[in-house]
Amino acid sequence: MDNELREKIEQLQEMTDKSSRIVFFGGAGVSTESGIPDFRSVDGLYHMKYEYRPETILSHSFFMKHPDEFYRFYQDKMLCLDAEPNAAHRKLAEMEEKGKLTAVVTQNIDGLHQKAGSKKVLELHGSVLRNYCMKCGKFFDAEYVKNAGGTPHCDACGGLIKPDVVLYEEGLDDQIMHEALTNIYQADMLIIGGTSLAVYPAAGLIDYFRGDRLVLINKSPTPRDEFASLLIPGKIGEVLGAIRV
Ligand code: NAD
Repeated sequence: MDNELREKIEQLQEMTDKSSRIVFFGGAGVSTESGIPDFRSVDGLYHMKYEYRPETILSHSFFMKHPDEFYRFYQDKMLCLDAEPNAAHRKLAEMEEKGKLTAVVTQNIDGLHQKAGSKKVLELHGSVLRNYCMKCGKFFDAEYVKNAGGTPHCDACGGLIKPDVVLYEEGLDDQIMHEALTNIYQADMLIIGGTSLAVYPAAGLIDYFRGDRLVLINKSPTPRDEFASLLIPGKIGEVLGAIRV
């Protein structure tokens, strides 16, 4: 670790020590160190070659028209059921347990924050762990979808199963948005990490932060870098992993 990074982590430590209502706002970059590719990094899904662009495949209209194509991509790239939480997930869970963090607001759909022990996780874009039959509403877990050997159908009525994830063209859950907004508004420190801040309306939530400790930890530049009181261009697992709670 170089000196500059070490200094920034020390500043992060001081800010964390002073805070008791921390909110974390994160995205796909939080899980890359667990082996799940993000969308926009050079080795992310947008740079791999598919017949359709990932945004197209992961849209509501595409899902309805081409469920087989959707599931081929989804089962292969989005359902990483063997992934384990990394140091970032674990440190955030510890911060919550010690009463310093009030919520994790995530754009991720992989369930790794909960797997690490976090309790208050506001999943803006849903979760791959929940799946429902579109016809009768029966619940299915992620293993059922992964092992379907093609497009998963309901074992009770034969209906098409849809993951409980927010696809492009779909709206976000009002209650989760409201809870996320309230937690961010009441926070005394906001840590943003592993997100390009390019996906709206999720990224707009950070505008509700009223405190003066805004930390941004991201490997590449974001449109909000200039607003950060502390900008750490590093790997989130390495950075958060170094904090003492
Ligand atoms: P994104 O792919 O647009 O951006 C990820 C950002 O994280 C990039 O700026 C990248 O530089 C940074 N990053 C990557 N690894 C990092 C690391 N180890 N430490 C610090 N920064 C790192 O992701 P997004 O902003 O979350 O938006 C993409 C959408 O894709 C979200 O809506 C999300 O639902 C979905 N998505 C989720 C997963 C998942 O659940 N794990 C994976 C891929 C995409």
